[in-house]
Amino acid sequence: MTIARKYQSGRHPILIGDWRDSETGATIEVRNPSNDEVIAHVANASVADALAAVDAAAAAAPAWAATSPRQRAEILLIAEERELARLISLENGKAYSDALGEVRYAAEFFRWYSEETPRIIGEMSLAPSGQNHILVSYEPVGIAVLVTPWNFPAAMATRKMAPALAAGCTCVLKPATETPLTALAVAEIILKAGVPKGAINVIVTSQSGKSVGAMLHDPRVRTVSFTGSTEVGRILLREAADQVLTTSMELGGNAPFLVCHDANLNAALDGAMVAKMRNGGEACTAANRFYVARNLYEDFTQGLARRMSGLKIGDGVDEDTQLGPMVNAEAVLKIDELVRDAIARVVTGGHRLNRAGHFYAPTVLADVPEDAAILKNEIFGPVAPIVPFDDEAHAMKLANDTEFGLISYLYTEDLKRGLRLSGQMQSGMVALNRGLATDLAAPFGGSKASGLGREGSTEGIKEYLETKYIAVSL
Ligand code: ADP
Repeated sequence: MTIARKYQSGRHPILIGDWRDSETGATIEVRNPSNDEVIAHVANASVADALAAVDAAAAAAPAWAATSPRQRAEILLIAEERELARLISLENGKAYSDALGEVRYAAEFFRWYSEETPRIIGEMSLAPSGQNHILVSYEPVGIAVLVTPWNFPAAMATRKMAPALAAGCTCVLKPATETPLTALAVAEIILKAGVPKGAINVIVTSQSGKSVGAMLHDPRVRTVSFTGSTEVGRILLREAADQVLTTSMELGGNAPFLVCHDANLNAALDGAMVAKMRNGGEACTAANRFYVARNLYEDFTQGLARRMSGLKIGDGVDEDTQLGPMVNAEAVLKIDELVRDAIARVVTGGHRLNRAGHFYAPTVLADVPEDAAILKNEIFGPVAPIVPFDDEAHAMKLANDTEFGLISYLYTEDLKRGLRLSGQMQSGMVALNRGLATDLAAPFGGSKASGLGREGSTEGIKEYLETKYIAVSL
């Protein structure tokens, strides 16, 4: 049996140096969003367990700082890609094809950072006074606490674990309680690849606030990397302030998707489907609101509705499913509230689906008023609200009128216009004539309330390194 298959049922310990039950013996149920049935049980970590995980990370830290993970974990993740994808679909609900894409993306972080490890290169220079050398080197920052959400259970974990391990840090990962099985399976694969016990620990807990809070107040912990809501990000930033921890925050988004009058309509529709529907819309990078030039507006609206309503909806693990369920009942409730609140023309969908599991119909809302709540809140589901525009400057103003700044999408056939508007977009990332910007070789991250720091690329490893300067007398 593959490691990933083992996690598709049964009762599982957590990883605190070794595999262990919670000291309280309590467990958490993990459910399949496609039918709401319980798949597996996982040990529910207490605060004492969280601190024991820091102990394990501290014990492993000195030996790990002297090694690098190289390529082995990548090879093994790919070897189990089908079983891992199935596990992601089972506990998250997403379509198998999305899950498979995620596993490949997740595995790439090990390859990328195993390549970055030997390039943690310092420098030596002569001081302007000529009296000393300036020696600069980069050291692992210390124990890293990694907190990840349920929407990409594998990739959000590896995007943090791979650079942390590559920098020489040991870590404690706390995945979301909705999707702990993938994190446990990935950790087991990494251990099998040769990363020593204690270098990676995984605690699953229903007491996130208390357990993460306790770890962030342990003096051995030096950095926290979080992906999740801006609301929880703010809490962790406050907690991190006490020990002056470095922080990496990938928080919420409210991505605008702007279609200029000179856009290629078909390309914009293809891009819109990816930007909106990848992962069922459950991505912080998902296009949240569409602004479309009046000359293309009706064709875009009808074209998107046609494509959305043609999606095959079903159980995530069925290989031909294009749209699976949302992660849980609350997610569907939130989507439904936003849709009901919007005073708009419902072009397709507009309701939950009458079947077991947490399904919502692919929905296109046209003529949405500029101040509607659905344009201001992260929908996190298969709903596309569209607003027409006549004046590009006004559309840009609307696009930027948000506290968030993760990503913006922009379609125009005029590259000069595209670069000018990209420069004006207040977001950490812009997808210009692309429905997908995420690339492990590019710096992922947001501006404004969407976050701090960057993940992936050559920048991602810097979050786990401390600069050390030694003045050397001549
Ligand atoms: P989402 O909206 O994606 O569920 P959250 O911000 O609620 O995002 O959760 C992201 C991660 O943060 C999850 O692992 C969750 O368990 C964890 N989390 C939630 N609340 C807290 C908290 N107060 N302190 C630490 N971690 C938390």
